[in-house]
Amino acid sequence: DGKRIIWRHFSEKGDTADIYTMKIDGTDIKRLTDFKAMSWAPYYHPSGEYVAFASNKLGFENFEVYLVDTAGTREPVRVTSTDGFDGLPVFSPDGNQLMWTSTRTENEKSQLFIGKWNHKVALSALGRSKKIQVTPLDLPEEQLQVATKGKLQPAITESDMRAQVEYLASDELEGRMTASPGIKKAADYIIDEVKALGFTPAGKSKSYLNPMSFKFGVDVLEEKNELVVVDKEGKETRFEVGKDFSPLSFTVNKKIESEVVFGGYGLAVAGKPGVGYDSYAGLNCTNKVVLVLRYVPEEVEQERRQKLMRSAALQYKATVAGRQGAKGIIIVGGPNSQNSDKLIPVNLDRSAASSSVVALSGNHKLANAIFAAAGKESIKKVQDGLDKENPHVPYGFALPGVKIKISAAVKKVERNDNNVIAVLPPGVDTDNPEYVMIGAHYDHLGYNDGSLQPKGGNPGSIHNGADDNTSGTVTLLELAAYLAQERKKNPEKFKRGIIFCWWTGEELGLLGSAQYAKNPPIPFKQVTSYINLDMVGRMKNNELIMQGMGSSSVWKKMVEKRNVAAGFSLKLQDDPYQPTDITSIYPKGVPSICLFTGLHKDYHKPTDDPDTLNYEDMERLAKFTAQLLMDLAGDMKRPDYIKVERGNRGQSRAGLKAYTGVIPDYASDEKGLLINDVRPGGPADKAGIKSQDVIIQFGAVKISNIYDYTEALNGIKIGKPLKVIVMRKGKKVNLTITPEARK
Ligand SMILES: [Zn+2]
Repeated sequence: DGKRIIWRHFSEKGDTADIYTMKIDGTDIKRLTDFKAMSWAPYYHPSGEYVAFASNKLGFENFEVYLVDTAGTREPVRVTSTDGFDGLPVFSPDGNQLMWTSTRTENEKSQLFIGKWNHKVALSALGRSKKIQVTPLDLPEEQLQVATKGKLQPAITESDMRAQVEYLASDELEGRMTASPGIKKAADYIIDEVKALGFTPAGKSKSYLNPMSFKFGVDVLEEKNELVVVDKEGKETRFEVGKDFSPLSFTVNKKIESEVVFGGYGLAVAGKPGVGYDSYAGLNCTNKVVLVLRYVPEEVEQERRQKLMRSAALQYKATVAGRQGAKGIIIVGGPNSQNSDKLIPVNLDRSAASSSVVALSGNHKLANAIFAAAGKESIKKVQDGLDKENPHVPYGFALPGVKIKISAAVKKVERNDNNVIAVLPPGVDTDNPEYVMIGAHYDHLGYNDGSLQPKGGNPGSIHNGADDNTSGTVTLLELAAYLAQERKKNPEKFKRGIIFCWWTGEELGLLGSAQYAKNPPIPFKQVTSYINLDMVGRMKNNELIMQGMGSSSVWKKMVEKRNVAAGFSLKLQDDPYQPTDITSIYPKGVPSICLFTGLHKDYHKPTDDPDTLNYEDMERLAKFTAQLLMDLAGDMKRPDYIKVERGNRGQSRAGLKAYTGVIPDYASDEKGLLINDVRPGGPADKAGIKSQDVIIQFGAVKISNIYDYTEALNGIKIGKPLKVIVMRKGKKVNLTITPEARK
């Protein structure tokens, strides 16, 4: 695959040679053979799983072809067994033939031979071969360091960045999930580097580790959860936890016994008929358990759906039921809705605070049993009536005679992790030290259990997060090495110190930076500015997005001045409330900006891997950021702080509900929604939407920006075709898209 070099390495005396491999940058040197003979002419099998080579292990003149695994962990396997010379093996590009040079001829002159190659047999022979340990190469000290770890050079270079990304975003770190063993390895790596560079811990801290802890959803206490339905005759039916019902993360832990009512969709939206929606009108819920349907009526038109969806969150439905006097709520995904008959994942909303009622999800079997016990129709019939908003169908009704016994029990899970904070102190003596701060989150999604954004994801696969946010993590490391060197050369240029922050818990909701901000080891009044790097590794068309420019009057001038040399096509945006750690720091009175190279199709996917990054532009971006940091740490006056009001747009970068598979260009100032890319095979792709299209209408809604689009998404229905109008090369194009549920 072009990633490694293989060669023969001679012993000091020159009488023996062995086979070695390394990465093309000279790191990760591996010795494959230890034959004390002349082993040479290695050739990789195209599968990359083993190497063929020639060796005279069995006698000075008797060369044979051998195989060895590419990790060098097993005794090589002999391939040829004829006297004389057999060597110089090469594989055909498809790996199905071997050609080599042999003297097995009448006149013992060497000729080329070719034979069929059985890859499976080769693998199994290697698999049966004895495990061995080769003696590693005795290298000079400096070379060994290069070999074992990409030790940071002061210069900011593409190759340094690549080498670091390849480790930090490798499967070995298992996607750096907050509080996992993988992220601990990343923290160790960062600390090794900053320690070697002479950074200090922050303030009075003795360690670079800045501890944080957080509640991470709940565990279900299986044996303590119970649900029994009692019909008019007193007959009891018991249901199974995890199969028929399940507590929700925000349930109260309690044992209750009560009557049951059907609360329709469990909605309470103010407004006159046709606008508002009151599932509880005329219903007595006091001290009862309410059975409700998930989501909103399925057949209402788009605009109404959009309005109702705002009051349809699980926890909100529980709160409404509590306000009606109910003791508990059971939420069921109706037969006409998405996720029909599925129990809601317990930790679908990990961050939800405990509510005042017992909150469960249930399946159709449970709902039908409750209806049957009261002599009512099936859940399908009931939902059909509600979905059409037939005026003769009541929003909810009593279920006389039915009783339910519930015991709900969950336990909050607390976890611990660390931000990594390292300080480059001011280069000059000062009684009132000031600091510039720079941060990047180093956590990612791990194996994404399905509760993280986008909900569902690809549970079970490692999400390496090379762009999100190994790119920022590594840029900070490069900056640390570069600035430490600059400070050594010209300490007077560092009037202010620099605080480097590697945040954890960002993907779970900015947890690491938020806890730091509550209790900072260096008070914020000493911090003059903050730069955030999140997803800076996939620059396209030379476009650099800079957000938070409205947080101080100094940014624009400063950034544009430094960009004269850097030459990026800058997209400046004022809003500092971005879905990343800047939102923890900016409100503390610190002028703050964010660098971002845009969203892409591998965002929060297992395919966000090191080989997708644009290292050349990462190097440029890092050098540009170094200039900004030097400006901020130098003579300049402390930047003023401008307070920007928080808009109504708190959402994650992918936190949109229905799935269309478009990747918007967040940098665009164009009217409409400029499409950066579409996910292959997704609804947008199937609809014929293309990169660089601008969506101007989505269903009934006119789209002039990303916020209109987000609103429109609330109103669309999964599986229902919608008209989309896009501008393509100046022309209107009418398309039809069928939104899908997020998997
Ligand atoms: Zn992310």
